[in-house]
Amino acid sequence: MASPSVVGVPELGVPFVELVGWAPFDPLELHAAPSTVRTANAIASRTFMRTPVSRPTVWHRSRGAFGTGTLVKARSSSGENAAVSTDEIASWLRAARHVVVLTGAGISTESGIPDFRGPNGVWTKNPAAEKAAHIDHYVGDPEVRERAWQNRVHSEVWSAEPNAGHRALAELERKVALDALLTQNIDGLHHAAGSSPDLIVELHGNVREAKCLRCGWRGPMNETLDRVRAGETDPRCTECGGILKSATVSFGENLVVADLERAQAAAERCDLFLAIGTSLGVYPAAALPEIALHHGARLVVMNAEPTPFDPVAAAIVRTPLGEALPALVDRI
Ligand code: NAD
Repeated sequence: MASPSVVGVPELGVPFVELVGWAPFDPLELHAAPSTVRTANAIASRTFMRTPVSRPTVWHRSRGAFGTGTLVKARSSSGENAAVSTDEIASWLRAARHVVVLTGAGISTESGIPDFRGPNGVWTKNPAAEKAAHIDHYVGDPEVRERAWQNRVHSEVWSAEPNAGHRALAELERKVALDALLTQNIDGLHHAAGSSPDLIVELHGNVREAKCLRCGWRGPMNETLDRVRAGETDPRCTECGGILKSATVSFGENLVVADLERAQAAAERCDLFLAIGTSLGVYPAAALPEIALHHGARLVVMNAEPTPFDPVAAAIVRTPLGEALPALVDRI
């Protein structure tokens, strides 16, 4: 059977440039939150202006026939794409000249860090936390900051170890032409697993650093957490007295332009894009597979639950990542 392939831009179940839902990236900042997304919006707009949307491919599920290009595969009851074996995905990886991986919170749940939208996700259990996750609340309310600092001190991130999925991705770069490991995660576990720092782009920052919202000072998070443990409830910048938070991107904060541009360039260049452990609901990160598809790449989705991109993925893998990723990388 011929390999399924994906061409064109999908008819996704979400608006093409849906920027409302992008952002909160910091499980430690459940009360923090952002306001403006100027940079991200500008970049996303530029992206789509440069690569105007065409809709060449239509699939007609009701008639059981699919328009040219996009193949919609039969799925087994387990949700796996029955038409594509692990060996076949491995062969795509071997053959690809430019592979890009995008990871989300789902790769770290097996390390004990809850995701946001999975069955045990922080926001699934407490939807109000999502609404409260905005930088304006963090800046405007000392009680929010005090709770956030307590969350940081007690976070599971500090004791978490990379799991088999992280380690398999570290191995992946030794076997295939991996151009970039883009992550929405802030837990630093790809670094800890041994992935090359040169390949990792932490789109939403890293919790292991603290930053000053006024002067931009940055320093090791540990040192600021020591101040909290010593009794400071809302530690201030030692340089300028400004408000401190983790060096992560909360709702309403801008992504780092250079990181976003690097991710976008990698997505444009790649011929195989793996979206791993992400609900693909947070923009602009979720724009990256769209960009890859638009430039002709094949998309593989590895996620326990459905994503808006499933209808246009060349393969979908629902198996837990700690099992699925080592199995896949072993077969390359
Ligand atoms: P998400 O919570 O929206 O989605 C995670 C997805 O992973 C879910 O669809 C879930 O079904 C799936 N999943 C969970 N465990 C899995 C497993 N073992 N195997 C296969 N699939 C699994 O996460 P997102 O798309 O990354 O977006 C949320 C935002 O919050 C991102 O910015 C993310 O980085 C941030 N966040 C980060 C961390 C972290 O750094 N570890 C934790 C929580 C949230």
